[in-house]
Amino acid sequence: MRNEGGPAPHTIDDYRRGYEEEHRLRGFRSSCGFTTATWGLLCPSCGRRDLQEVELSREGRVVAFSVQNVPSDEFLNDAPYAYLVVELAGGGRVTGWMPSARSESDVTIGDRVRFVESYRNGVHFERSPAEPA
Ligand SMILES: [Zn+2]
Repeated sequence: MRNEGGPAPHTIDDYRRGYEEEHRLRGFRSSCGFTTATWGLLCPSCGRRDLQEVELSREGRVVAFSVQNVPSDEFLNDAPYAYLVVELAGGGRVTGWMPSARSESDVTIGDRVRFVESYRNGVHFERSPAEPA
């Protein structure tokens, strides 16, 4: 649901629905070229109020991670799992979780991962198939 003509073209609720219900990764792109997955009214790079909504790539690479052994209540039955920061192809960084990674040795910085649909809340990543040689 868009809020055409309103003071903000997108709301934080729209953004949450984007990935929790529609399984799309929404992002925002400024005329300066900066792309972000973080909802906001100002471009974090140039400060212009010109962010346009874009659909982000589902593919990316791990740029940071930590293995969560003591999760929030919602993920109690899933621990341990990896909590990731992923740089998406085409720009934008998102945080998400990868339940298939259960220890530090299961994830490496630079690993290719893909956003997958999940019945769970949060942005769920799994390892991408290997690139063809
Ligand atoms: Zn900008």
